[in-house]
Amino acid sequence: MAESQNKRDLAYARTKINFDVKDMTNFLHGGEANVEQRRYIIDLIAKDPVFNKDDWGWLNHTDAVKRGIAMSTRLAEIKMEHDLNDLDFATMMEAIDDTLPIVLHNGAFIPVITSQGTEEQIEKWIPPAEKYQIIGCYAQTELGHGSNLSQLETTATLVKETDEWEINSTSFTAAKWWIGGLGALCTHAVVQARIFIEGKDYGAHVFVVPLRSLDDHKPFPGIEIGDIGPKAYNGFNKMDNGFARFNKYRIPRENMLMRFSKVSKEGVYTKPPHAKLAYGSMVLLRSVLIKQMALYLSRAVTVSTRYLTVRRQFNNPTSRNDSDLNPGLETQVINYPMVQNRLFPMIAQSYALFAAGAVMMDMYIGLMTGLSSGNIGALAEVHAMSSALKSYCTTFAVAGVEESRKLMGGHGFSYFTGIAHLFASTVPSNTYEGDNYVLTQQMARYLLKEVKTARTNPDQVTPYSKYLLLGLNKSAFARSTCSVALPEDWLSPAVQLAAFEHRCARLAYELSDAVEQGGLDTANPKTWSDHNIECYRISHAHAQYVMVLWFIQAVRDASNPETDVERRAEPASIKVLERLSNLHALHTIQTNLVDFVEDGYFSPAQCQSLRAQVKNIVASLADEAVGLVDAFDHPDFLLNSALGATDGDAYKRLWDKAQSEPLNRREVCDGYEEYIRPLLKKHGEFKL
Ligand SMILES: Cc1cc2nc3c(=O)[nH]c(=O)nc-3n(C[C@H](O)[C@H](O)[C@H](O)COP(=O)(O)OP(=O)(O)OC[C@H]3O[C@@H](n4cnc5c(N)ncnc54)[C@H](O)[C@@H]3O)c2cc1C
Repeated sequence: MAESQNKRDLAYARTKINFDVKDMTNFLHGGEANVEQRRYIIDLIAKDPVFNKDDWGWLNHTDAVKRGIAMSTRLAEIKMEHDLNDLDFATMMEAIDDTLPIVLHNGAFIPVITSQGTEEQIEKWIPPAEKYQIIGCYAQTELGHGSNLSQLETTATLVKETDEWEINSTSFTAAKWWIGGLGALCTHAVVQARIFIEGKDYGAHVFVVPLRSLDDHKPFPGIEIGDIGPKAYNGFNKMDNGFARFNKYRIPRENMLMRFSKVSKEGVYTKPPHAKLAYGSMVLLRSVLIKQMALYLSRAVTVSTRYLTVRRQFNNPTSRNDSDLNPGLETQVINYPMVQNRLFPMIAQSYALFAAGAVMMDMYIGLMTGLSSGNIGALAEVHAMSSALKSYCTTFAVAGVEESRKLMGGHGFSYFTGIAHLFASTVPSNTYEGDNYVLTQQMARYLLKEVKTARTNPDQVTPYSKYLLLGLNKSAFARSTCSVALPEDWLSPAVQLAAFEHRCARLAYELSDAVEQGGLDTANPKTWSDHNIECYRISHAHAQYVMVLWFIQAVRDASNPETDVERRAEPASIKVLERLSNLHALHTIQTNLVDFVEDGYFSPAQCQSLRAQVKNIVASLADEAVGLVDAFDHPDFLLNSALGATDGDAYKRLWDKAQSEPLNRREVCDGYEEYIRPLLKKHGEFKL
């Protein structure tokens, strides 16, 4: 097929879009100014040769780390040259599209010191950190422990005589492990270590620990340090995830971050006013991940939507054939309902992730504002919410990136789609910042407390747990059923939310009853573990409920004249957004249908009409799909994809990319004389 047909197909698809793509882009990114700033930052990165991505597919870990360091230092320079803020830094990382050794300096080192340090400590460490006179990482995980913070083996023992801490890796398994930036780049780390004062264990606390000399970058005596080696799928290959062992290494007492817990010169320990006050920085990292998932999944579906629009296979009639454009051509694969039903729900999920990312950041900002004035009221809920959302969103976004690859058939497996790299970068998000399975216990614990509140003080249940009030009257709740009578009833947000609320309430009370009946204790890991599967289920159910709710609210707000103009959209965009919101809600129900039918809330007939409605909405989005992914506004530099570029010239680009394979530089490959020829000649000459 001529290359121009590819381009023609995508251009033709763009003529059918029924909304203004620019308007949708502004809605997604929170206004025109943000869109322009994002473009400006991406261009800054794109035109700098150190960020060129052409040879990435061929870099091994050792070369990649060197490149990662070069990119890190340039990134720091650009940030300072242009006086860019944290948001711009995040956009630079988005544009670079790889995890660099420097990323945790801005992503964790600075935020941890800022949120857990005293004013004097902030004054001491942050100005040099902002000027990159010191570069830091975040060292919590050890060879033997990650999830279980309370059993970390690195100790910090107070030495009163010298007013110092002695940091010690008490065993082989106490070695810090996986720490991004530690292997090669960083001069400092914030280290989690268990405090011992006169033999008493006060649990894990955070310390600023100098690692390498600021003169020659050599590790200080008493620290053994290095890189942990290559990682799965060649992911994170520019990142120097590292290890460190401390051998009775001394640091000043003031290097313990003391905003909440304090230790005086005399060895008096003051505990924090609230046990979870130090969680602020974790909430930030998890909240940022939701937004990142929106960017990752939307990139994957951009590539697959564009490619599937230009890919033609078989000559099967579908309800949406473009044979008027080019009679006699095969069918565009995007017209197959099977393809649409795999792809379009992920476009809807991407839009829902944009909405959830914005709300989660607002919640984080609200939390920090409250904490700064001593109000810890929102801490438990926001911590649980960020844990539940992190677990759910990273799980389905990563699955979605892989599904986008599979959607593209054989070519999907080429590195040049850009999706293999995206998958390798995205997949560890299921593990870092809290393992996705372990994390769900946070929301489950929180909801169990809310169940108690619902029973004793129903007025005090927090807004997102209000559904628990539905279950207070057990018999009425058991009799309640879904109100859908006609297929179009599914399009009511109230009906959708009622279904999610019913499901969450049932799962929460079932968990609560099981815990109570078994006489089990959430604080007792031996017995609590029996309920881990149910914890996962209710935590993800709650996350799905708030995601559906937030997307519905974002679409409602978009047409409300009282909403900030940045979050508004034109009527034509809203019409499509409503369809996406419906698809997101109903498809989420459909993929979790068992939860809605096992107590009889949905009837078999309702299940059938639900499936039909999902199919209808999917089909109704066929003309909009290309516009919906164009609206994400991911430039070609960012996508780095032969199959998903803006002009649709997929085959030509794939061909050109393959020509850059170093094997093709020679007519006869290396190894011919050594291996191939001897085999061919082993049993004599064969004449053609
Ligand atoms: C790419 C990458 C980058 C990282 N960067 C950093 C970094 O910069 N700094 C840092 O400190 N750490 C970092 N980490 C470490 C990361 O945070 C931890 O690996 C993560 O929190 C998981 O902990 P773990 O390894 O102890 O897993 P484990 O807890 O050992 O998990 C192993 C298995 O056991 C299961 N499991 C564990 N406990 C329970 C339970 N109670 N109930 C049920 N199942 C359970 C888990 O679900 C999992 O399947 C990084 C990790 C990766 C992969």
